[in-house]
Amino acid sequence: MLQQLGVFHVHDLCPPLLFDLWKATGELDAHLWFPEIGDMEQYLADLETLIANLLDIWGLIDPERILVKGKLPTLPHLPDDVRRFGPAILGGWWKNAEGIYIRAGSRVRAFLKSNKELQCRLGWSEKSSLECSTVKLESLVKRRHTTWISMVSADFPIAEPAPGGALWVVCKSVVAQSGDDNHSPQAGHISKIIAQERDGKPTTALILVETFIVSDLKDRHLNMPILLPAERGMALEIMLEFNAQHNCFTCDCAMESVPILQERIVTDRTKQKVKHSPESRFVLNMHALHNAHSVWEVLPRSLSSPVPYLQDRRASHTRFAEQLRITSAKRAATRAKTQETRTQNKLKKATMASAQVKQHAENVAQSGNEMDDDEGMDIAEAE
Ligand SMILES: [Zn+2]
Repeated sequence: MLQQLGVFHVHDLCPPLLFDLWKATGELDAHLWFPEIGDMEQYLADLETLIANLLDIWGLIDPERILVKGKLPTLPHLPDDVRRFGPAILGGWWKNAEGIYIRAGSRVRAFLKSNKELQCRLGWSEKSSLECSTVKLESLVKRRHTTWISMVSADFPIAEPAPGGALWVVCKSVVAQSGDDNHSPQAGHISKIIAQERDGKPTTALILVETFIVSDLKDRHLNMPILLPAERGMALEIMLEFNAQHNCFTCDCAMESVPILQERIVTDRTKQKVKHSPESRFVLNMHALHNAHSVWEVLPRSLSSPVPYLQDRRASHTRFAEQLRITSAKRAATRAKTQETRTQNKLKKATMASAQVKQHAENVAQSGNEMDDDEGMDIAEAE
């Protein structure tokens, strides 16, 4: 779970190569959590690039880690496994050779249904219980009926739907549609969901959004699509939910101390918190697991396609191998020396212990002789 947001927190705390490793790991992780694969060949090609990127960065950091770190040597086999068994996570769908969607057996799916943690990570829910595009009203306690002018006009340049004069309430949520959409998709932030109410049920629901333009170029620092603010308006449908993060690096957001609350009471203790600049610049979080496959499908290939980290892989791998031969020999010599020192120390300890035992035995024997002499003297005196 940490991997989804880790890159936003470590960006100025670790060296550039380690930061690149965080990015490569986040991108690969999100790809591995695809529950559906539409274009298997495209997916596998991307997966191979993402795995190659991760291993190449490990190679630049320390090639030996690829050999000794448990999961890394198994990664290159993953594309073959996915081709044979489908998505790397359990219960996913993929197209077979005839173009028909198939999925894992019932027992594998049953495991997903019974594993709440896995469901939570995937944002998975029973589709049958949610009807797309329906809205849910706020609780009766929170529900306030307001006119269009005070509810909308101040923030959104939208004319009141005819006939005017109706009262509106704020809604709690809207169900996104997970299927195909006929409209061209646009990124946006839901500001408000409002509806008219009749007999305790919502009617004429509207979704007010701040729309964003997805830039053609990726953010170079985070390697993620940039979201630029566009306008305020009304959404026709909510297609899918995605995660966006403020681009603190570009906006140069600072840290500030804020008091820690304990049982809703302000304490003297403080903690560090990011104070975001008012600049409305965001990035589309490509490390988020929820809906990663849908985001990947909606984005143009120029933004979703992974770029090879090394252009000269062959030459780099030769360098890694040369480096590995030298460092392995050095490390083997160090290990042998450490082992020899340990053996000598053990031998020294054993010798010392043996000498102590011998000395103790001699002392006991000596004190025994002295006692015998004393006893003899007492007997002699008694006689
Ligand atoms: Zn920020």
